[in-house]
Amino acid sequence: MAIHPKIIKGKLYQYRTLLSYFFLGLLFAAPFIKFNGEQLILLNILERKFVFFGIIFWPQDFYLFVLALLSFVVFIVLFTVVFGRVFCGWACPQTIFLEMVFRKIEYWIEGEPIKQRKLNDRPMDLDKFMRKAVKHSIFFLISFFIANIFLAYVIGTDTLLAIITEPVSTHLSGFISILIFTIIFYLVFSRIRSIVCTVICPYGRLQGVLLDDQSMIVAYDYNRGEPRGKVQKGIEMVKGDCIDCKLCVQVCPTGIDIRNGTQMECINCTACIDACDMVMEKIERPLRLIGFKSEDEIKFSKPFRVSRKIYGYSAVLVVLLSALTFLMLSRSDVKTTILRASGTLYQMRDDKQVSNLYNAELVNKTSKALSFEIVPEDASAKIQYIQKENQLGYGGTVKLTFFVLMPQDAVKQFKTEMKFKLLSEGKVIDRFKTTFIAPPNN
Ligand code: SF4
Ligand code: SF4
Repeated sequence: MAIHPKIIKGKLYQYRTLLSYFFLGLLFAAPFIKFNGEQLILLNILERKFVFFGIIFWPQDFYLFVLALLSFVVFIVLFTVVFGRVFCGWACPQTIFLEMVFRKIEYWIEGEPIKQRKLNDRPMDLDKFMRKAVKHSIFFLISFFIANIFLAYVIGTDTLLAIITEPVSTHLSGFISILIFTIIFYLVFSRIRSIVCTVICPYGRLQGVLLDDQSMIVAYDYNRGEPRGKVQKGIEMVKGDCIDCKLCVQVCPTGIDIRNGTQMECINCTACIDACDMVMEKIERPLRLIGFKSEDEIKFSKPFRVSRKIYGYSAVLVVLLSALTFLMLSRSDVKTTILRASGTLYQMRDDKQVSNLYNAELVNKTSKALSFEIVPEDASAKIQYIQKENQLGYGGTVKLTFFVLMPQDAVKQFKTEMKFKLLSEGKVIDRFKTTFIAPPNN
């Protein structure tokens, strides 16, 4: 059954609205902001290129991506252990679009929940047809807009602009993708709605495992509220503070009754807090019968304290973030792979030099083209190229084949470590090493 929650514009709803508009602005602007010549955020899975704040991550940086993802998961777990599912209600794009964009438009066209229900139940007439047609056309248009923004993150704004501005026939697959995503978003926001949060999203299901009695969540203070019951004029209130008005249920976007305890469907949107506070104000009882509380706080009046679980997750997060920071700072602009040519050992030259043949591959991880030069760290070693290159294009790869020559009398053992530095405009941008093989000079 479709849920038609009431909108109560309490204090928390106003804060949530402001925060949502800020997130919406950020979400729409981020793909169009350039930083270091790159899109601020790009998640191009097809080309395996990811950009965060102007820093490009290529497939060679996959380990960084995995580490960052792992840190993010641990952060979400830690955040959930402390604050419950507040991310879902306050920051998740699904909730923001549904509650702050689509739901408001529905209110504007079809009226309050009771009018919406009546409209749905009555047979089709011109007024109903017009309202439904206008609503679904607007929903479809907004979904089209969201699909474009979504693709801007995935294929990049430049490619997206080309799809939009150039003839459809030249970008048929791009155009079909926009259409498919438009239909998906339209169905999500007009039909599936809160089922995404209660059934499809795996995060909600994790709640039961992550939450404990110290987690701060949206909860009903049953000690204060029970026994619930209607207030009758002129009769002294001997019951609990809950007057069983059910306003907290009517405002819930997932249609649950928070008085039944923590439920998987609760997205911590805090709408029921606003609703109940409004009732408490009217009947002149203290606010926050429903509030942001832990089970321990309600049951034993214990204040929030940091549990061992929180210490544990925090320690793991610190370790992961430290490793990520170290790897990010030590990440070189160019990834170099060098191997001695397969099937070769060493070659003796007439001029008492010994040579080894190498194959090298250089990958440019920066957002600009680079000129480069490979220099052996041992001054007695020289490079003789078979195939020379000194330019590395944007995101490009270069393959080199070269000999390294050493005077035989400088070689002391069969296998020697050979170090190189990669210079670009006089600056060392990478260091790498391999082994050099030669008959020892005894
Ligand atoms: S809004 Fe408050 S008073 Fe009304 S039913 Fe819910 S908990 Fe009880
Ligand atoms: S129970 Fe309250 S906080 Fe949870 S989803 Fe419903 S209205 Fe939002």
